[in-house]
Amino acid sequence: MPEYSEFERLCHRLRFALDVPTGHEVEDSHYLPEFVARVRSAGLQVTPTTVPGVAQAVSAVANGLHLAREPEVYIVADSEPNAFVPPLSIDRRPIVVLNSGLVSLLSQNELMFAVAHELAHLGLRHTSRTPAPRQTSEFQALQNRSIQRYAEISADRVALTCTRSVFVAARVMLQLASGLPSEHLGLDIESFIRQIDREPGEISREWELALSHPSTPFRLWALLRFSHSDTYTTLTNQGGCGAPIGEIDQQIALRFAEMGDGRLTEMEACLYRSSLVWAGAAMVMDDDIIEDGEVAALEHLVGEELAGKAITFARSNGRDAVLTKLSESLARANAASLATRRRLDQAVQAFAMSLDLDLSGTGAGRVLQQCLSLR
Ligand SMILES: [Zn+2]
Repeated sequence: MPEYSEFERLCHRLRFALDVPTGHEVEDSHYLPEFVARVRSAGLQVTPTTVPGVAQAVSAVANGLHLAREPEVYIVADSEPNAFVPPLSIDRRPIVVLNSGLVSLLSQNELMFAVAHELAHLGLRHTSRTPAPRQTSEFQALQNRSIQRYAEISADRVALTCTRSVFVAARVMLQLASGLPSEHLGLDIESFIRQIDREPGEISREWELALSHPSTPFRLWALLRFSHSDTYTTLTNQGGCGAPIGEIDQQIALRFAEMGDGRLTEMEACLYRSSLVWAGAAMVMDDDIIEDGEVAALEHLVGEELAGKAITFARSNGRDAVLTKLSESLARANAASLATRRRLDQAVQAFAMSLDLDLSGTGAGRVLQQCLSLR
């Protein structure tokens, strides 16, 4: 069992339910030493004598998050208000890179929020899964984006627990959204969050699927919900008795589903259904005889309409064509999440049992074994 630091335990306690831990160790990839060398030569290292305000903010974050070592911090000349923590292994001294655009936009407290957010990605071990090295499909690329969006919710929670002020968090979000320093901004949180209400006539938010971050109004809404949780109350002694964190995570997951992520779930369900119907049709066709009882079982499994189409195809094209359809749909289904692929495997096995077939002796069983990845 790996031993977790106090920092990691805090991060894991604050993890959003859909932000599933990978359990992978972070491996320092080959480009990192070069990246670090470039930052060191191009930027300004933050020390109490070079950039005192930033040094103080980072020190306060390191204490608040119980980091074993103070991070090494650099500021680089880049007007984009952004920060980055390269994915070094958790045992190494963390490196924080702050763009000058972020430092000049945010006050010291606000900068603490941003730095804590970036360090949280390290403590939550998010870095090991991004960027995805070998994306097999557009669908899988979108899924990776979705995983990144869930990760942002967790990282914001760590930042809030460290800075303990929803007003600081709100100011950060407003400033990141507008690019304006706070002297221009009134803190109207409600109207900011209403910006993501649906427009009349708006059908889907599919465009959100391509974003690596949830919108800032959404992040702030999710963070305010979290600030009413029992976890936040216990950790910070703030707020009332607090609602169970599980309930709050459900509300946030539901709102994710109503937005672009709902479409992603639909796409996954679609991959599942199309593989299931071809596996079912292949089993029905296994002895080249289509019996009424088998058709009824397939209808029960995937619905009359889908079953009807597959059976019509099977009657006119034969068993081999059905097996080809199955292998094609399984190749696509491999882009779905592991949970969905396992559910698919179980459903196919259960269907074989209901037809009294030994799956491994059928063409469908062979194709399934060859084409469906269960890892
Ligand atoms: Zn982030």
